[in-house]
Formats: sequence, structure tokens, C-alpha cells
Amino acid sequence: MIEDNYKQRGLRNKLVKKLREKGISDERVLAGIGNVPRHAFFDAALLNHAYEDKAFPIGEGQTISQPYTVAFQTEKLQLKTGEKVLEVGTGSGYQAAVLLEVGAQVYTIEYNRKLYEHTKEFLPTLGYKPFFFFGDGSMGIPAKAPYDKIIVTAGAPIVPLALTNQLAENGILIIPVGDREKQKMLRITKKQGKLVQEEFDHFAFVPLLGDQGWK
Ligand code: SAM
Repeated sequence: MIEDNYKQRGLRNKLVKKLREKGISDERVLAGIGNVPRHAFFDAALLNHAYEDKAFPIGEGQTISQPYTVAFQTEKLQLKTGEKVLEVGTGSGYQAAVLLEVGAQVYTIEYNRKLYEHTKEFLPTLGYKPFFFFGDGSMGIPAKAPYDKIIVTAGAPIVPLALTNQLAENGILIIPVGDREKQKMLRITKKQGKLVQEEFDHFAFVPLLGDQGWK
């Protein structure tokens, strides 16, 4: 069992306060961030940084996303309890844990085998049990489609058609799209079969690899 003491809970409350100040207002998302023990995702050497609003390395050249980014993307999904969500880029599993806290049914896919194997073992030890998949998430997981919501947690060069095709009617895809260094956050909603796109701020994600990603 991971220790979660008053000090860590206090740091988490401060983080939630900071996210509120930065404009996150969905109480369920804030409660989710407030419940997930982010320090459990960190190596001993970086433990003191767990509740900073920053991204950190998780090995394999990948990162655990910044809490603000996790909160921003989750809020923009407008999740309802029980909705089926596809997450592309499992990484550490932190985002998946927040989605589960908010009440989603989570399918998460990772392209890096070491991270997939690590997170598939680790995340359930915290009580978080999404459905784990290994493979190229830029193609979605057609066998489990359609999804009410899709969240991509790596920077894409384009909006993958495979993902919009796997959205349910009234479904929402949130995805950072741009070049390798900087991406604009896009929200795409499927309305009567048509795709409606909204644009938000810029973010900096590691690249989405694979067929519909960077080569
Ligand atoms: N959601 C993660 C978390 O909470 O820790 C952060 C993800 S990290 C910023 C991006 C992840 O996307 C990396 O783990 C990377 O290996 C993965 N990735 C990149 N291309 C992918 C693809 N085509 N399919 C699935 N995962 C991919």
C-alpha cells in the first residue's frame, strides 16, 4: 500500500487551489486531481516535485503530463458518469486515474511496450483499473469503438481520421495538434455525423508516433 499522509494531501489541496486559480472550474475534475496520489507515480529522486504543476520524466523519453494539462483536457471532455473513454498514450497512468475518478469507463492504449507493461502492473495497485491495450493508438482501438470521448495525450501532426471515425454521435475528441515542439489543443465534436472543431491554447506534448502520428 502506498503511503498517503497529511503532508501529501495538503500538497494536493494546494495544487487543486492553483488549478482553480488557473481557470479549471469543473468540481468533479478538481476532486479527481485531489484524490489521485500523484506522488505514487514518481521515483524516489523526484518525489519532492510530485505536486508541482509541471510535467516530469517517467523513463523511455516520456513524461507524466502537467496537472494543469490533465485537468484542462479532462474538463474539456465534459464527462458524464459511465461514459466510455479512449485514452491514447497511457504513459504513467496518471491521466487514466483522473478519468476513472471522474466516473469514466476507460480504455487506454500505449505504444511503448515497457511503459505499457509497467503501468498495467502498477496502476491497479492504486485501485485504478482501466482496460489496458498495447499498440498504435493513432489508429484507435476499432474493436472496442464507438467511444463517447477520446483523449490524446501526445502531440499529433494531424487529426487522425481513425479517431474521428471511432467517435459516437455527440462524441468529443480532445487532441493537441501541431508540430513536434508546440501544439494547439483542439476539441472536435461529432454532431449529426459532422465534425465541429474548437481551438484552445498551445501546449507542448511529446510526439504521437505511429501510422497517423510522427514517423
Ligand atoms: N497520459 C500520460 C500520463 O498520464 O502519464 C502522459 C502521456 S505522455 C505525455 C505520451 C504518451 O503517449 C507516451 O507514453 C508515449 O509512449 C505514448 N504514445 C506516443 N505515440 C503513441 C501511439 N501512437 N499510441 C499510443 N501511445 C502513444
